Amino acid sequence: MDLHATSPTTTIQQADDDGTWTSEKARALHDAPFNNLLFLAQTIHRQNFDPNKVQLSRLLSIKTGGCPEDCGYCSQSAHHETGLKASKLMEVKRVIAEATKARDAGATRYCMGAAWRNPKARDMDAVVAMVEGVKALGMETCMTLGMLDLEQTARLKQAGLDYYNHNIDTSERYYSEIISTRSFADRLETLELVRQSGIKVCCGGIVGMGEEPVDRIDMLVTLANLPEHPQSVPINMLIPIAGTPLAEAKPIEPIEFVRVIALARIMMPKSHVRLSAGRTAMTDEMQALCFFAGANSIFVGDTLLTADNPGEDKDTLLFCRLGIEPMELEAQ
Ligand code: SF4
Repeated sequence: MDLHATSPTTTIQQADDDGTWTSEKARALHDAPFNNLLFLAQTIHRQNFDPNKVQLSRLLSIKTGGCPEDCGYCSQSAHHETGLKASKLMEVKRVIAEATKARDAGATRYCMGAAWRNPKARDMDAVVAMVEGVKALGMETCMTLGMLDLEQTARLKQAGLDYYNHNIDTSERYYSEIISTRSFADRLETLELVRQSGIKVCCGGIVGMGEEPVDRIDMLVTLANLPEHPQSVPINMLIPIAGTPLAEAKPIEPIEFVRVIALARIMMPKSHVRLSAGRTAMTDEMQALCFFAGANSIFVGDTLLTADNPGEDKDTLLFCRLGIEPMELEAQ
């Protein structure tokens, strides 16, 4: 779609004919007049989704803290003094009980996260039992467990895992500023194993970590140029946590954040773009703009892995004011 007709001064370029994105084309879109960018994002959103439906996911930390990785934003890294107490892997029956409560409160996808570099062989039986148990409740399942090998992806697929979350976090250029214990290439390798196993990919990043706009753009270019677009693209706004290297990071400006959401929607038209961490720091108006820009998935509940989240009452009220309804499982 060319917005030239409605805006004589602006031509918005999109992907090349083969669907690949260059940094320059994404940048041109990102820098377009805000109204043009949002109009295009909303148009593309309507072509692919019901604009008034938002998918609800619920996140549970199944193993908290003590992580050997050094992600600069994370309260769970053993490298940072955040005061978070490390816990062992949660018992399977407790995970199923929590998932049942989430399902009864309207969540259709249950995401389980463990603070690991990668799962150990001894953990796999429990993790597989969690996937099978949650699946049996009629929910979609998602896990984030760190790097995986071929055998682990095959086991998770066989257990019925629907999605695997593995974020690239930021651009390749900026990656080493945030994490030193693994590389951007490591991330892409696990993503490829997940994709080849037939598990759907949930992959996005975090903005507001001191990166430049070009890093946010290039992160989306990497995602949009994967062999398949991730089916789910979480965009997190950094929640600065005391004790982490990013505790004093300069917050991203709200309009800039909305631009990132709109760009993600345009570049990955059929993906669910999730407004993830950071919603507690957003006004209702900012969230409404994000939904208009094409965000159509959120995490519900009072907490994310370890951080605060708005909670069901506040979300229900906001949805009601905006005329938004939860997306049914079949529509996903
Ligand atoms: S983001 Fe994940 S991998 Fe990184 S330190 Fe936190 S729990 Fe570990």
